Amino acid sequence: MNAPSPRPVPRPGVMSIEAYVPGKSAAASTGKIYKLSSNETPLGPSPHAVDAFKVVTEKLELYPDGSATQLRDTIGARYGLDPNRIVCGAGSDELLSLITNAYIGPGDEGIYTEHGFLVYKIALQAAGGTPVVAKEKNFQTDVNAILNCVTPRTKIVYLANPNNPTGTYISFDEVKRLHAGLPSHVVLVLDAAYAEYVRKNDYASGIELVSTNENVVMTRTFSKIYGLALLRLGWCYGPAGIIDALNRIRGPFNVSGPALEAGIAALKDEDHLSKALAHNDKWLPWIESEISKLGIRVTPSVCNFLLLHFLKTAGKTAKDADAFLSSHGFILRGVGAYGLPDCLRLTIGTEEANKKVVDCLKQFMTRS
Ligand SMILES: *Cc1c(COP(=O)(O)O)cnc(C)c1O
Repeated sequence: MNAPSPRPVPRPGVMSIEAYVPGKSAAASTGKIYKLSSNETPLGPSPHAVDAFKVVTEKLELYPDGSATQLRDTIGARYGLDPNRIVCGAGSDELLSLITNAYIGPGDEGIYTEHGFLVYKIALQAAGGTPVVAKEKNFQTDVNAILNCVTPRTKIVYLANPNNPTGTYISFDEVKRLHAGLPSHVVLVLDAAYAEYVRKNDYASGIELVSTNENVVMTRTFSKIYGLALLRLGWCYGPAGIIDALNRIRGPFNVSGPALEAGIAALKDEDHLSKALAHNDKWLPWIESEISKLGIRVTPSVCNFLLLHFLKTAGKTAKDADAFLSSHGFILRGVGAYGLPDCLRLTIGTEEANKKVVDCLKQFMTRS
């Protein structure tokens, strides 16, 4: 027998996890800083959400409602869903981990796409599972490639639709084709963090697929269009069996009171949501078109961010662009960890930020 270790040793696999590196929040500039690195909304949250947050500061000694009843009822009413089939979490990140922990053990495989959201990989490795990566086609999910990765050990398929950091999506018909090709014991996770932004008739977040199947679960977040990233709030809608499993393993008070109250108020403020959407509808195409003129390739996006490719032919690297932008106060997201070393991800910002970042990129591309 081996001698016992002199100090605690994490389970196999834990130490091989590469910890998630969030978007930077500081720049190398002493002037005004424009944080365009984490897909946060430039409009901020609904003022009603801020008010609701302030009210609970008077009752910090009380535990929150551990079953998030009022928030689940509000979500149910907003989307026409059975509140009993909803679980709330501290961000959708927590829900993705819970789903993974409920269905993945050592030796089990989880599939995600080539440039898919990195939280899936971390959640899989943390649960002792094996990450399996399906190739994408032109920065877009390839359903056939995912189906080709399925083995008897596959337990979960994670699909960010639309995906971060590529900004691309697949049609609901394609999602249904993916589902139809999976064995019925495999959980299909539809991560719809950017669903509110998508303006495509052939897109759906997946509610219908969840409602009619026992192996599909959809995750949503308050961190993006609702502007509540600081509070950590997300929810998922799933079949009774999956919801039951998640409720058994989640922390009893996993969502904080301020998050619950702000979330309820945010959902009720349809006006604010419309404003945020209108802002994106205006600036996403504008930035895409302006940046494309500079010799930077832009992957067409349906989200509130764009993936910029610095082409070798233009002789400019993403790394140099990042340093130049940063020195002028613009924080973008390096996406080397996503297998995209020649790219930067840019979040749509305020009118001022959008115009200035385009100017700054123009300076960068034209300087000798
Ligand atoms: C931002 C994002 C989330 C949301 O994470 P939260 O934990 O809810 O803040 C989930 N999935 C994707 C693909 C994202 O980009």
